[in-house]
Amino acid sequence: MADAHAVQADSGPPGRPSGGLPDGLRGHAAAVVVTCEHGGNRVPLEVAHLFSTEGDHLAGHGGYDAGALEMARALAAAFNAPLFFSTVTRLVVDQNRSIGHPKQFSKYTKGLPQSVRQALLDAHYQPMRREVLAAVNDILKAGKTVIHLASHSFVPVWRGAARTMDMGLLYDPRRDGERALCAAWKARLATARPELRVRRNAPYKGVSDGHVTALRKRFPAGYLGIELEVNQRFVTADRPVFESLVRLIPATLAAALTDIGLDCGDAPPPAS
Ligand SMILES: [Zn+2]
Repeated sequence: MADAHAVQADSGPPGRPSGGLPDGLRGHAAAVVVTCEHGGNRVPLEVAHLFSTEGDHLAGHGGYDAGALEMARALAAAFNAPLFFSTVTRLVVDQNRSIGHPKQFSKYTKGLPQSVRQALLDAHYQPMRREVLAAVNDILKAGKTVIHLASHSFVPVWRGAARTMDMGLLYDPRRDGERALCAAWKARLATARPELRVRRNAPYKGVSDGHVTALRKRFPAGYLGIELEVNQRFVTADRPVFESLVRLIPATLAAALTDIGLDCGDAPPPAS
């Protein structure tokens, strides 16, 4: 019974978060928030002694997501959106892990006394979490749907195996709005750049622990959280392609938002 299904999607039945965007919201105003949790490999002074011989780890993917902050800046500029980022290396405290997650602290920091770890959280983790939460709340209070883009990148080779995808769009398949947005975005990318290999919920699952996942729990409706994952081989080995992606990704996202009926106001120019 198709009608019953439509009613269900509209009313947002308890226990099944839709992530917003029932049919009634078509044409609804939306606003973008951009984050970059792994934007740099900076080591704060108070823990610098732990990293004195670990330059290799800091420079590699273990230290940060190469290219992710540049992509985040482009997204924020295109949508006139607030950008929140961390440049403290994930090897000190991982901005994309929840408090208490076994991997929130790395092998360099997890053995520190609890009081020192708490001080690291207070100084280098909580501020960004608080600021993003406030920005999301402000948009919801203004009656708009939140589109949260978290910009990440992944290594082209993982444990000896090449990753064949170029980009990943991570979302929660149970949330209608996120699913619809990622389908529309993937279609726009395929039209603009057919050779680009875009996958959904790969190389990671959108529902794994992370900043976006934490916000989904707080906001069962009105919030769409997408993690963008870009292959670092473009950043390191194919700079012209990466620069084209920096233009293509915001433009195709803008088109996809329009496709699913959300109105973000200032849209970037179409992909060339
Ligand atoms: Zn990341």
